[in-house]
Amino acid sequence: MIDAQMGVCAICLTPGPEHVDHDHKTGRVRAILCFNCNGGLGQFKDRPDLLRRGADYLEGNVWKPTLVAPGVYRLPS
Ligand SMILES: [Zn+2]
Repeated sequence: MIDAQMGVCAICLTPGPEHVDHDHKTGRVRAILCFNCNGGLGQFKDRPDLLRRGADYLEGNVWKPTLVAPGVYRLPS
């Protein structure tokens, strides 16, 4: 699998990944990751929606709910 990934982490492309990442629900192996990327996914609970929101946040899209009706707010999607 490391050969198939050309010897780099599937996320950050750092050489020498050594952590087998798997889907905790199905047990299916996804890829080989470096320590930081594997830990990062765990910190975000393996949730793509949270990771996308984190990326948006870092790119400067400030978290700001929109008032859609009196007392009703919508979160940025
Ligand atoms: Zn990595």
